[in-house]
Amino acid sequence: MFDNLSEKLDKALHVLKGHGQITEINVAETLKEVRRALLDADVNFKIAKDFTNRVKEKALGQDVLTTLQPGQLMVKIVKDELTELMGGDAEGIDLSGNPSIILMSGLQGSGKTTFSGKLANFLQSKKSKKPLLVACDVYRPAAIDQLHIVGEQIGVEVYSDRENNDPVAIAKAGIAHAKNLGCNVVIIDTAGRLAVDEQMMAEIANIHKAIQPQETLFVVDAMTGQDAVNTAKAFNDVLNFDGVILTKLDGDTRGGAAISIKSVVNKPIKFIGTGEKMEAIDVFHPSRMADRILG
Ligand code: GDP
Repeated sequence: MFDNLSEKLDKALHVLKGHGQITEINVAETLKEVRRALLDADVNFKIAKDFTNRVKEKALGQDVLTTLQPGQLMVKIVKDELTELMGGDAEGIDLSGNPSIILMSGLQGSGKTTFSGKLANFLQSKKSKKPLLVACDVYRPAAIDQLHIVGEQIGVEVYSDRENNDPVAIAKAGIAHAKNLGCNVVIIDTAGRLAVDEQMMAEIANIHKAIQPQETLFVVDAMTGQDAVNTAKAFNDVLNFDGVILTKLDGDTRGGAAISIKSVVNKPIKFIGTGEKMEAIDVFHPSRMADRILG
C-alpha cells in the first residue's frame, strides 16, 4: 500500500534527474506521494495538506532542485518536519507531588485500565516509586475487578470501594489511603463510555477539579484513526489535559493519529502502548514514530 515511502521518493526524484532538470512540478508530484502516505496512515486531510505545503517551502528553500541526491534530501526534510510536528524530544511526567496524582481519562476500551497498570509497573520498576492504583469506575464492577487483577500481577496495591457510587469521594479516599500507606504516586483510573457524552465529561471534570492532579493523561486507541482526533478534542476542551497516551500501536496502524492529535490539541504524546502485557509500554519518541509513518 505505502511500502517504503523513502525509497519511492528517492527513486521518483532520482530518475527524473537523470532525464534533465528537476522542476518544481516534479517536487509537487513527489509531495503528492507524501500526502498519500500520510492519508494512508490516517492523518487528517487538512493536516496532511498543510504539512506538505510546509515541506514544499522547505524543499525549494534547500536547493532540492540542484542537489545530487534530491530524494534523500526530501526524505530528510519530510522526516525532520514530521518529528518536529509530533513534539521534539520525548517529555516525561510530573512526579513532583507528594503523592503525585495522575488522572487517567479516555473512552471505554481505549486501554485506560491496562495503561494504568503499565504506568504503575513502569514507575515502580524503573523510577523506584511506590504507586497506588485507584478504581473510580462506579458503573462497571468488572472494571474494578480488572484493576485488581492488574494490581496483583504487578504487585501494586489497588484501592476500591464497591459500596460507594461517588467517584469524587472514592478518588479522595484513595489519595488519603495512599498517604497512609506511604505511596508517592496515585494513579486514578476513571470510568469511560463508548462515546463522548455530557454525563461522563461532567463526572471526570468534577474529579479533576476535586483532586487537582499533577498529571491528567488522555488515553486513546491508535487504531481509531480520525475518531481519535474528535475524542481528544472533546476531552481536552473539558480537562485541558497534560499529555496523550497512544495505545495499541502493536496493531497494523501506521500511527497517523499521533500527528493529527498533536496538531489539533497541541499536547505532548508521552507514552505508547504496544501490547496487552504489563511490560508493553514505551516512552514516545517522535523520530521513531516519523520512521514508522514514513515506512
Ligand atoms: P479501558 O476500558 O479504557 O480501561 O480499556 P482496557 O484497559 O480494558 O483495554 C481494552 C482492551 O484493549 C483490553 O482487551 C486490553 O487488553 C487491550 N489493550 C490495551 N492496551 C493495549 C495495547 O497497547 N495493545 C493491544 N494489542 N491491546 C491493548
